[in-house]
Amino acid sequence: SDGAFSPAVVVGTGYGAAVTALRLGQAGVPTLMLEMGQLWDTPAEDGRTFSPMLSPDRRSMWLKDRTEMPLASFLWLDINRRIERYAGVLDRVDHGDMSVYVGRGVGGGSLVNGAMAVTPKRWYFEEILPEVDADEMYGVYFPRANAALGVNSVDPGWFETCDSYRYARLSRRHAHKAGYRTTFVPSVYDFDYMRREEAGEVPRSALASEVIFGNNHGKRSLDRTYLAAALGTGNVTIRTLREVREIRRAGDGTYWLTVNELDQAGNVVARRQLGTRYLFLGAGSLGSTELLLRARDTGTLPDLGEEIGRGWGPNGNVMLGRANHAWDLTGITQSGMPALGIDAWDDPEHPVFAEIAPMPAGVELWVSLYLAITRNPERGHFTYDAATDSARLHWTAGQGEPSIRAAKAHFDRINRANGTIYRHDLFGDTRVFENRFTYHPLGGLALGTATDLYGRVHGYPNLYVTDGSLIPGSTGVNPFVTITALAERNIERVLAEDIRRG
Ligand code: FAD
Repeated sequence: SDGAFSPAVVVGTGYGAAVTALRLGQAGVPTLMLEMGQLWDTPAEDGRTFSPMLSPDRRSMWLKDRTEMPLASFLWLDINRRIERYAGVLDRVDHGDMSVYVGRGVGGGSLVNGAMAVTPKRWYFEEILPEVDADEMYGVYFPRANAALGVNSVDPGWFETCDSYRYARLSRRHAHKAGYRTTFVPSVYDFDYMRREEAGEVPRSALASEVIFGNNHGKRSLDRTYLAAALGTGNVTIRTLREVREIRRAGDGTYWLTVNELDQAGNVVARRQLGTRYLFLGAGSLGSTELLLRARDTGTLPDLGEEIGRGWGPNGNVMLGRANHAWDLTGITQSGMPALGIDAWDDPEHPVFAEIAPMPAGVELWVSLYLAITRNPERGHFTYDAATDSARLHWTAGQGEPSIRAAKAHFDRINRANGTIYRHDLFGDTRVFENRFTYHPLGGLALGTATDLYGRVHGYPNLYVTDGSLIPGSTGVNPFVTITALAERNIERVLAEDIRRG
């Protein structure tokens, strides 16, 4: 059972949380991590840890009766299926005009994401976080993050000949024909393993379409990198199926957490109190923001300010598909891990970085799929809803329009140059651009507004934010490298200045 007190507590086990726990553990600080999801390290009866992608079972989603995939349909046929309600690995949190996908389990988003490990353009990083020293970030913390995450790059020679990136080579050709530049995207999926998958030497994961419901092989998720190292210090403990609900602060400065203990069906089986001196919130943009909003509005941390819940954005995410000519084959084996992006981020009017995404169905579909990251200046905000005891995101369809305009500007050009058209059958109705979901929730507890420049929450000593909620709505690329590097920077300062040891 939970101890009644731990010197440091980290809520969540995603990127920010994992960095923080490792550095606390190395500094000799006994640290407890509380994760609402499960540990994914044991194969089930079918020999797999995670659900197969194309025939999803209860392991696929967090407490849902049906799968809820981002591509809702194909030829307007619903491709989702019924599953048993279970503490699975991918959650989709619906907030009206915006649904947010998040990972649940030890490793957070690293369990379900596409492994694309991209360092943002420096000029854009300086624009979104102008008060953070970019020399330090690009000289020290981005390299530190990339090394610890195990980032690697595809062998360009192999890329040109393998079957599994035929879809990416086709999209590259179409992009080049329209005058666009493409770029390889670094990854935390082990490209050596992928090469052996294609050669038939090892069990398939990326080449068996695995991605959003977890990879059974090949991916360097956080449980294999930062979290393994954190546990290796001997000072870090991870408890699973523990959902933090409330945060209070006692007169002596101790933070008291109310923690729900869940079973695998999501039922609350126990409710415990846990005290700590140093509290780090790494529950992700949705999770950490909700915890502090609830604390402010129910009066348990009454001095929290107006900035809590502000500055949220979906990183400008838009998904779209193009219909290919009959002679342009994408291939029936498509790596679930993207390796190439169309880089139009320097476009003055419509900055776009579009990942060339797989549509791994195991059959030829003649579809080229993209997840475009656009520079959308709109921001949403959260309010606390007492009736449901949860945070509500305020984001309207209209706020998503700039993202569509940006994606359309470029993909219209690609279609014109290649004599192709958009697909209308992928997102449930006839829309071409899907911007009602995001994989990249960012903000809610922005650095320098809700917190100081190192993630210290204003008004509450020894209370910190470590995750994607620090980044105000946009990074211009897939975000986990930025989240990791920022967490490295912040914990170094906090360890040096705030934490009493020994
Ligand atoms: P998370 O990784 O979200 O971790 C938060 C953790 O806290 C979760 O494990 C959650 O279960 C837990 N938690 C939440 N609330 C509580 C609570 N109250 N109590 C206890 N635990 C709690 N990014 C990239 O850079 N490249 C990609 O290729 C990429 N692809 C993606 C694909 C998908 C399908 C998804 C969903 C995301 C993708 N992302 C990608 C985004 C990336 O995964 C996230 O930006 C990143 O995981 C966010 O890190 P974080 O530290 O903010 O928190």
